[in-house]
Amino acid sequence: MSSRTPDQVWEAALGNLEIQVSRPIYATWLKDTVGLSFDGNEFVIGAPSSFAAAWLEKRMASLIEATLSQVLGRPVAVQFRVQTDRKTHNEARQADHPGPELLPPETPASHSSANGSPAFRLNPRYTLASFVVGGSNQLAFAAAQAVASRPGETYNPLFLYAGVGLGKTHLLHAIGHASAQKGLSYLYASSEQFTNDFITAIQTRRTREFRDRYRGVDVLLIDDIQFLQGKEAIQEGFFHTFNDLHNSNRQIVIACDRPSSSLSHMEDRLRSRFQWGLSADMQTPDLETRLAILQAKACTLNLSIPKNVLDLIAESFPCSIRDLEGALHRLGAYADLTSQPMTLEMAYSGLGDLLQGRHERVPLPSDVIAQVCSFYDISPLTLSSKRRDRASTRARQVAIYLLREITQTSLKEIGSLLGGRDHTTVRYAWSKISTTKDSDPTTQHEISTISESIFTSVKSSSPL
Ligand code: ADP
Ligand code: MG
Repeated sequence: MSSRTPDQVWEAALGNLEIQVSRPIYATWLKDTVGLSFDGNEFVIGAPSSFAAAWLEKRMASLIEATLSQVLGRPVAVQFRVQTDRKTHNEARQADHPGPELLPPETPASHSSANGSPAFRLNPRYTLASFVVGGSNQLAFAAAQAVASRPGETYNPLFLYAGVGLGKTHLLHAIGHASAQKGLSYLYASSEQFTNDFITAIQTRRTREFRDRYRGVDVLLIDDIQFLQGKEAIQEGFFHTFNDLHNSNRQIVIACDRPSSSLSHMEDRLRSRFQWGLSADMQTPDLETRLAILQAKACTLNLSIPKNVLDLIAESFPCSIRDLEGALHRLGAYADLTSQPMTLEMAYSGLGDLLQGRHERVPLPSDVIAQVCSFYDISPLTLSSKRRDRASTRARQVAIYLLREITQTSLKEIGSLLGGRDHTTVRYAWSKISTTKDSDPTTQHEISTISESIFTSVKSSSPL
């Protein structure tokens, strides 16, 4: 048996999974999982919600089993449990050490660069054609296009800078693809990979290979250059690489999370070289661009999403396109698993914790009760009373359904909110509406009208 704890084993497996699945899938489904136990045969993984556990079970069990078996060196079966107590260190780990560029599993393992050694992989989805252009990234895109069509002749180096998840890596890969199409050799590497290669080359006395690899290409794409800060020896290595390529008119493209002038622990001579060509930044996209990006992604994913749901996502994730994508992936999976058409109501339950803290506030049971009462024109007192006339019964059943669906209140709590009813009565009302809703257009209409008014009331009453 392994001497590592289940959590340590799972950490190792997560590291492995991180490079096998796409970034949104990792962020949505795997990041917050924990290793709970291992009895020699069965490995139990904790997921933050029953929905996440079901998704992992349905979609990822075999990949996870294979990965864990590899980490443990023996065949393992996996089980998923709900574990609400999240390990935030997973998030910290992510933030401190951004992983290598993540690729979908179907991506070929490597492309060959001109000198025959395996080049770092490009994500096939990151192309110039799939990049949505708006006011926030126009200049960077135009520069990338220019560089891609005439490498080494226009802006050299091209220095792209932007915050996290705004498309830097996408543009670097896109330039790589365009170069390959022209028959040019390229090399894409993060500055961490450059560092590792540099150190390994020195340790194994293979500096010539290192030099050939980095200086023998037509287009060098270096991502996240900020990680070279404070590493003087590596900066020196990069300085010579840069000069060599630049002197022979080969293209260098650099991505960074800040302008070069803010790279405080970078040698002046490098910083000034970064300014030789063109620096272009990308800002957070405006609402219109975010919507266009969502529409394009939904189309690629073959998802049909109503406009009000796209609006909700676009409004809720203003800072990073990666977050927009993550939300879209999660909703797609949710719709798929629950076999429900996509509605605003479903988006709120599907996105749940992702929206918390981003969106103004989530609806509370009191919001649901207030809007149900207003729609049926009855008082909250009547709603929780024992009255059984048609109108009160109907309003009560709808309130129960919406309390469960929108605020995820338990049956027991709903019972006590509505005048101390027992949970079987509550369950009956909930299942009655859930079934009639699918076949009866009036019920459907009432539910969606009240849901809309709940979300609108929450929005308008939220602190800015
Ligand atoms: P960064 O490297 O700046 O952190 P990425 O290039 O990894 O960000 O982008 C994050 C995600 O958002 C990627 O999946 C990328 O395809 C997508 N993305 C970013 N900008 C755009 C855009 N303008 N159009 C389409 N997708 C984009
Ligand atoms: Mg990146």
